[in-house]
Amino acid sequence: MSPDAPADDVAHPPVEGCPFCAIVAGDLPARVVWETGLVIAFRDIAPVAPVHVLLVPRVHVPDALSLDASHAALLAELAVVGRRVAEAEGIASSGYRLVFNVGDDGGNTVSHLHLHLLGGRPMAWPPG
Ligand code: AMP
Ligand code: ZN
Repeated sequence: MSPDAPADDVAHPPVEGCPFCAIVAGDLPARVVWETGLVIAFRDIAPVAPVHVLLVPRVHVPDALSLDASHAALLAELAVVGRRVAEAEGIASSGYRLVFNVGDDGGNTVSHLHLHLLGGRPMAWPPG
């Protein structure tokens, strides 16, 4: 465990076959744009906007349905990293969207919590 790893590493061990755990471990390449003790941010492999970055906890939390009050610091860090990446990508003032896809209707495909940061073009509402 690295010195700055979150205390709940033990409660959320890496999952064999999980692509985002593999990226965190350095076993799968990714275009990393930001890293903190709790969060790694990398470019989506199939971007749907000019800026499409995934904000990912280093620990394997399966999805937003698995969140509880013990993840408060992690959730705050995800939002703050989103802000930092938006500033670094030059889209903070034009605007951006942060999205958790949850479950089948939400369009979730990777079972490791991730917040999509989307920007660089106007976003439609309601979403498709
Ligand atoms: P979701 O549908 O919300 O579960 O989003 C999963 C996202 O992960 C999709 O936008 C995929 O394009 C992206 N993705 C899957 N595998 C990788 C990978 N190895 N590196 C970067 N992005 C990935
Ligand atoms: Zn994982």
